[in-house]
Amino acid sequence: MKHKTIQTPDDLTLDEITQRFSTDAAARKYWEAIHWPKGPVCPHCSNKKPKLIYEIKANKAKRIRPGLRQCAKCGKQFTATMGTIFEQTHIPLRKWLVAWYLVCSSKKGISSLQIQRILDLGSYRTALFMTHRIRHALRDPVFNDKLRGTVECDETYVGGKTRGRGRHFMGNKTPVVALLERGGRVRSQVMPLVTGKNLKEALEQHISPKSTIMTDELPAYRKAAGRFAKHYVVNHSRREYVRGRAHTNGVEGNFSLLKRGVVGTFHHLSAKRLPLYLAEFDHRHNTRFLTDGERTIIGMKKSEGKRLFYRNPAK
Ligand SMILES: [Zn+2]
Repeated sequence: MKHKTIQTPDDLTLDEITQRFSTDAAARKYWEAIHWPKGPVCPHCSNKKPKLIYEIKANKAKRIRPGLRQCAKCGKQFTATMGTIFEQTHIPLRKWLVAWYLVCSSKKGISSLQIQRILDLGSYRTALFMTHRIRHALRDPVFNDKLRGTVECDETYVGGKTRGRGRHFMGNKTPVVALLERGGRVRSQVMPLVTGKNLKEALEQHISPKSTIMTDELPAYRKAAGRFAKHYVVNHSRREYVRGRAHTNGVEGNFSLLKRGVVGTFHHLSAKRLPLYLAEFDHRHNTRFLTDGERTIIGMKKSEGKRLFYRNPAK
């Protein structure tokens, strides 16, 4: 059978998802169009010649899944979900599409409990499994380009129960460092120890040396920011927050959104899972000028080849 692609729109609304992709077949066609924009590609041997790929007709009695393809080059079979976060999940693709949309469009994040209710999922565990896989897909594995211009760097402490012991007291909290390009992109990461050496490594990996760096007075930044064109420091402990161009208000606003999400939406966030949530928040920030639908589609395209690196999401 010849492969037919449906047109991939650049944008989506939740209404459209529920109308157009109300059946598993329609959702699968849509995912195929996103996953294979130029037609099917065999994940086993990378063959993409249309003449050498056949669609096998679905047959319930013979346990042939819809969307199954046969590669004439290597003789193996495959589907569009193979090698993606959707593989072997037994959750209908149409529900995945809605979950993707909800995660990408909720500004402060959406709880797995709410996803469970909206999608009528059998268990909370299933909802958590889906949202963690989606977050995992949103993580950027390799950064090929560096942040430029003016970059605000700041650290914060997320989670834990210890309060009120000063700005740099850690307790059982998890340190997060974010690098925010003013007016542009953000990259957040968990940094188990916020030291000059670790900060230096992160800054040099992610920021162009020609950039201007904005930080607070934490001494570790002095070592970390040495190689950059300029380094401005605002002294928060002396209640100095803005001095001309020098401030870290952008990155702090980003942290406050993250914390509202963490406190308000994710009540039991583990330190181990924090990088996944950071990926989710970073993705929304980095696509903030786009529509919810565009943000969802870009997110889904990031799922390529992510499954293999991810195990036991619901633990
Ligand atoms: Zn093949």
